[in-house]
Order: sequence, then structure tokens, then C-alpha cells
Amino acid sequence: MKEMSGADMVVQALVDLGVDTVFGYPGGAVLPIYDALFNHPSIKHVLVRHEQAATHAAEGYARSTGKPGVVLVTSGPGATNAVTGITDALLDSIPMVVLTGQVPTTLIGTDAFQECDTVGITRHCTKHNYLVMDPDRLGAVIHEAFYIATHGRPGPVVIDIPKNVQVATGSYSVPEKIEHQSYRPQVEPDAGAIAQAIDMIAAAERPIFYTGGGVINAGPDASAALRQLVSLTGAPITSTLMGLGAFPSDDPKWLGMLGMHGTYESNMAMNRADLIIAVGARFDDRVTGRLDAFAPEAKKIHIDIDRSSINKIVPVDIAVVGDAGRALDALIAAWADKGHKARDLGEWWRRIDGWRATRCLDFPEKKDAGAEIMPQRAVKALFDATILEGEFVEWVENSHLLKRAFREVAVIGGLIERQHPGKRKTGKQVTFSTDLIFDVLRKYEPDHLLIEAAWADARERLTDVARLGDLLDRAAGTMVHQRLERISPLAIPVLVLIGRENVAASDLDDALLGELADTLAATAMGGA
Ligand SMILES: Cc1cc2nc3c(=O)[nH]c(=O)nc-3n(C[C@H](O)[C@H](O)[C@H](O)COP(=O)(O)OP(=O)(O)OC[C@H]3O[C@@H](n4cnc5c(N)ncnc54)[C@H](O)[C@@H]3O)c2cc1C
Repeated sequence: MKEMSGADMVVQALVDLGVDTVFGYPGGAVLPIYDALFNHPSIKHVLVRHEQAATHAAEGYARSTGKPGVVLVTSGPGATNAVTGITDALLDSIPMVVLTGQVPTTLIGTDAFQECDTVGITRHCTKHNYLVMDPDRLGAVIHEAFYIATHGRPGPVVIDIPKNVQVATGSYSVPEKIEHQSYRPQVEPDAGAIAQAIDMIAAAERPIFYTGGGVINAGPDASAALRQLVSLTGAPITSTLMGLGAFPSDDPKWLGMLGMHGTYESNMAMNRADLIIAVGARFDDRVTGRLDAFAPEAKKIHIDIDRSSINKIVPVDIAVVGDAGRALDALIAAWADKGHKARDLGEWWRRIDGWRATRCLDFPEKKDAGAEIMPQRAVKALFDATILEGEFVEWVENSHLLKRAFREVAVIGGLIERQHPGKRKTGKQVTFSTDLIFDVLRKYEPDHLLIEAAWADARERLTDVARLGDLLDRAAGTMVHQRLERISPLAIPVLVLIGRENVAASDLDDALLGELADTLAATAMGGA
């Protein structure tokens, strides 16, 4: 038990919890915590320009590392600006702890300067939230908040801390064991449900694995167990956008992503299956489409750590509540114990191969002089040289993100919004700090390629291909300048906006796109 100020307690708890990065924006009601942060150089602070960006960056950090993202913002507008990212983290099951400053306890409820009811506002978009009125409770609350954010279905937790609680002295100790009164997520799957599920899998004639973000959350071992179970059963597998990276895309059993932007074969296979094994996926409407027509012939097994996800949208035949990794391990063990052998799924695979033969991701290559460059080709040229992501779901996921490895994908799933492009990438860059990350965005105006270094004032449209070199130099120069000037400790993502229709600059050919990618990649590496 140690006596210290509330602000010191906050930072000490972060240190004890192994936090190495905080994304934030200072303001009056949170300055005592900022002052305390100065004394702890082990925690890197990433200064953003807007609180929403801090939450998105923290999401990117969490998706890339598996650790909770931490955000520090002030009261009132600081807290309300963070709400979009908090809601996004809730939808996408991302562990995040958001520390918000609050007006002093004596002013709460008086319409004080920069006051808002943060706990009330964030009640419906957090997994849990706190208003800490007593400095002696602060340490325990922070440890509990991290527990809640990271256990069971991950999600955002807000801790609202009045300024006088940050200044007051209280006692701090690291709790020996954290247990919430009512929150006890079930991690171990029920043995009876596992036994029924494995018999159903072994008996199915047209099974398909439908996996999601829960497999990523369950960690790399879950991804390995998934590969093993798919291999044992010989069944095809598809995944949601959020589950990409958990299964290798070069495995012949991989059908590609499913859903409205998914492959023809994965959607047809889901629709015609007699058994769907849903692992850490939540039957999102981008995947199911019309519920009355969704997989009409299939029995469904649903593995999910959140009991409330099960039977929420699609009624299922077997519910397995628990961690995806533990459930997959248990299914593998049960497969061996019961002596199951893979069925001959030849007929099922022949149907799938027929759907595959449509080659739905192919796009016309227009190589004639003066022909337009297809956006898919532009995206591919950048992808080949860089880490590339984007909100351009229609082009990016289908062609390229599918090839990404575990935890390399940090796209926004549930609540995509257009105003803050690239911010999840900030979090990702903290993790993969030497890589240049391209962000490809949809632009509703055709006929131009727009290059900008994020956060730089300069942005220019490329309508004359002769100016490509200039623009590249300028974008690269801005990146190097920002790093040298320590405006940002990070590599600066370069946004390449591609016209909605096509990139119509007729001379912009493969060689130039390659040059674009090479130049930017080389600059990013060299400028580090
Ligand atoms: C423009 C746009 C287009 C989109 N198009 C598509 C599309 O075509 N196809 C598509 O798939 N998505 C698409 N999306 C994304 C879509 O909105 C959803 O975010 C996504 O489908 C949800 O993925 P998920 O089911 O894997 O759930 P997630 O949101 O990743 O939720 C994970 C589920 O797993 C559970 N879980 C969490 N941790 C664990 C654990 N350790 N063990 C077990 N269970 C766990 C959770 O309780 C939850 O039910 C699109 C998004 C945008 C913005």
C-alpha cells in the first residue's frame, strides 16, 4: 500500500499493467495525469489532433499487438469526441481503456466549464464504465477496467476521473486477484456441447467453417488449432472481414472472404451447406443478407465467448459458449477420442470447384494505349511493395487483405466512417514502426490519383502524369521532414486516393505505379 496522488496512481497502475503506449490529447481536466506521465518515460505518449483519432489509433494498436489500447482525453468535448471510436471498439470487440478527465466532484451537475455526463453518454457504447469519486478506489478500478476490457468478449471501458480526485492523495496497491462481482465470462466450453458438435461435424455431407474476429482475439494458438481441425475434417472454410488472417489464403480449403463483398464460392457454399460451424463470428448482416433466405438447409453450431451473441440473430442447433481457442482444442481432442475419420466430401468439393471456376475476383486488364487503369491493378501495385490497407472494402479485401498474416489486418469493421482515414494505421505503425503503410480510400470523383502525406497540409491531385515525380518527392519530403522535426515519432502514412470509376490518366501504367510504390517505400525506410 503506497500513498500517492490520484494522477500518480493512474500512471503507476498503467506501468504495473505493462502499458507502453498511450494515445491522447491534453486538456484542463486531465493535466494532472499528463504531468504525472512526464515522470514515466517508459510510457510513450502519441499526441493526436483530435480525440476520435486517439481512439482509432488505440484500436489499431490493440488489433496489431493483442494488447489493450489506452486513450487519455479531457472532460466534456474530449470525452464526446472519443465516443465514435469507443462505439467502434465495442462493435469490433477491441480491448480499450479510455481515461477521461472530469470537472471536480463539487462541480458535477452544475453545467460547469467543459462538463458533460461522460458515464451517461458512454453507457451504451462501452462494456463497462466508471466515475471514480474516491482516490482510494482509483487503483483498484483501473486494474478491474483492464480485466474487463480484455476478458471474455473484449471491448472498451471508460474511467471518468474528476480533477480533484487526480490531485487528492490516496493509497495504491496492486490487487492480488481481480474478480468482478458479476462479470465472470465462461472461457472453458461445455464438454457435452463439444461432444454433440463433433458428432455433427463428422456426419455432415456439406460442412463449412465460418470464422470471425473471435479467432483473432483468441490468439495465434487458436489460429493453429483452426488449421488443424479444418485439415482433420477436410471441410471448406470462409471468414468474415474481421477474421481475415487467421487461416492461410493459399490453402486449397480456403474459399475467400464471405458476405456482400465476399467471393461467389464462399457465399454459395454457405448458402448450400448442410452444416455451418461458426467460430467467433456474429452473423453480421453484411454476411447473412436476408435472414429468411440465409443458409436454409444448414444446421448451425455457434462457438462464441459472449453468451448474448448466440441465438441473437440466427437460431442455432448447438451453442458452445467459450473461448474459440479452447473450443477448437476440445473439438480436436474429441475428434480423436471418438475415432472420427474425415468423410468423403468429394461431391461437395466438386460443387464448390464449379463455383470457383467463375473466378469472380478477376478483372479486365485494359492494356491498350489510352485505356483506363483498373483500381484493382493500382491497389495491387501498391500492395506488392508495402503494407496496404484501406476502407476500400470492395477492392482491397477481396484482392489483397486476404493474403495477410495473423494480426496484420486492422481495418474497421462495424462502424466505418469516412472522416478519419488512416487513424487505425497510426496504432499499427506504433507496432510495425519501420513499415510504410498505405491507406487507400474511396474517392467519389473520378479521373484523378491524389497523393497526400497524412497530417500534412499539402494535398494535390494528379491529373497530369508528368507531375508524378514532383508529387512523390513532395509527399516523401513531407514524411521525412515530419520525422526529422519530430512532429510525429511515427512513419507517416501516405494516402493514395484513387478515383471511384478508374484512374483515367491514360499514361499511368504499371511501371509508373511500381515507381510510385517503390519510391514511397524506399523513402519510408530510409527516413526512419
Ligand atoms: C463497407 C463495409 C463493407 C463490409 N463488408 C463485409 C463483407 O462483405 N463481409 C464481411 O464479413 N464483413 C464485412 N464488413 C464488416 C462487417 O460490418 C462486420 O464488422 C463483420 O462482418 C463482423 O465480423 P465478425 O462476425 O467476425 O464479428 P466481430 O465483430 O469480429 O465479433 C467477434 C465475435 O466473436 C466473439 N468473440 C470475441 N472474442 C472471442 C473469443 N476469444 N473466443 C470466441 N469468441 C469470441 C464475439 O463475442 C463476437 O460475437 C464490412 C464493413 C464495411 C465497413
